[in-house]
Amino acid sequence: MSFIEWRTLFDDIFDGYSDEWTLTYVHRNDKIQNQNLKNKRRMERTGYAKFYCSKCWNSWASAKAKVVLYYPNANEPLGRITLRFFGQQCRKCSRNKIYFVNPEFDEDWIESTLEKLYERIGWFCYGKERLTKPIKNDQQANNIEGPHEKALCEACQLGCCDQTSIKKNC
Ligand SMILES: [Zn+2]
Ligand SMILES: [Zn+2]
Repeated sequence: MSFIEWRTLFDDIFDGYSDEWTLTYVHRNDKIQNQNLKNKRRMERTGYAKFYCSKCWNSWASAKAKVVLYYPNANEPLGRITLRFFGQQCRKCSRNKIYFVNPEFDEDWIESTLEKLYERIGWFCYGKERLTKPIKNDQQANNIEGPHEKALCEACQLGCCDQTSIKKNC
């Protein structure tokens, strides 16, 4: 369900541009596409999300849930944005097999993320003027404390988590 929610909000927000924009999704196991996306421009966001394991019904929350939205380089045609979720493994049933659960963000967070992206596309793809805005604190992210379980975090395993000191591109 979660990608459909992203897509519905995306279609509403990106309706504002004259070109047709589409949000697609890349699966973590699609090695070739993930490799190709490394050359694209990207917007990364980390925030609060819930995780629901479909194998054992365990659920948990994390303030270090990550998404990356890839958008076209300057020399590329406009219109396509690709979303990549970074998952977390379920603590209860991950021992047997590596299986990542995708984050489920609040609608407000998804909306604000897509609005930021919309604004950024305006600057980079349509030459819109960049206005400076006051920086807002992510309240929810601050509410959750405690250690980050690196062993269960996909972005940590790939070296691109916000928790990693030397961060790679993902
Ligand atoms: Zn589980
Ligand atoms: Zn991590």
